[in-house]
Amino acid sequence: MAEFTLAMRSRRTAKPHPTDRDWPGQSLASMVGRCGANPAFLSDLARVQERIDARIADLQQKCLAGGVCCRFDLTGHRLYLSTGELAILTSEPPPAPGACRKLRCPYQLGSRCMARQRRPLGCRIFFCRIADRASADRIYEQYHHRIRMLHQTHWVPYGYVELTSSIMQLSLGK
Ligand code: SF4
Repeated sequence: MAEFTLAMRSRRTAKPHPTDRDWPGQSLASMVGRCGANPAFLSDLARVQERIDARIADLQQKCLAGGVCCRFDLTGHRLYLSTGELAILTSEPPPAPGACRKLRCPYQLGSRCMARQRRPLGCRIFFCRIADRASADRIYEQYHHRIRMLHQTHWVPYGYVELTSSIMQLSLGK
C-alpha cells in the first residue's frame, strides 16, 4: 500500500516531458546554449557516443582517412545532427570557419578531422566503403532515437539541423 501511495504521488508531481514542439521561437544559438549548459546532459551524451563507437567497432570498418566524406560539396550529401551534438561539437571553435560557405566541414584541416572526440553520430557511422550498410543504418536509427530521448530526459531543446548552415548561424549569434 505504501508503495502504491508513493507511486501515485510521484505520478501527480512529475512534470510532463517536453516534446520537440515545446521549444517554439527559440533561436538555434539559444537551443544549443541550453544543451551546452547542462553538464549531466553532456556527460550522458558523451557516454552514448562512446557506446556508438563500440557498436561501430563491431562492424569492423576501416576509415581510409581520405577526408572526402567531410567535403559535402564533393559528395553531394548533407550531414545532420542534433542540437546537443552541435553543442558538443562547437564547444571548441572550428579551425576553418570559412569552409562552411563552401559546404565543407569547418573542423576538417587537410584530410584530418580536428574534432574526432566530439564528432556527431553521422560522422561516426559514415564510411565511404562499407560492407554492411544495413547494420550501419540500423545503428544510426537506434542511437539517433536514443540521443533524441536524452534531450527530453534532460529538458534541453531538441533540433535536427544541417551542419554547415547551423555553424554559420551560430557564428552570427542567431
Ligand atoms: S566533424 Fe570531423 S568527421 Fe565530422 S564532418 Fe567534420 S571533419 Fe568530418
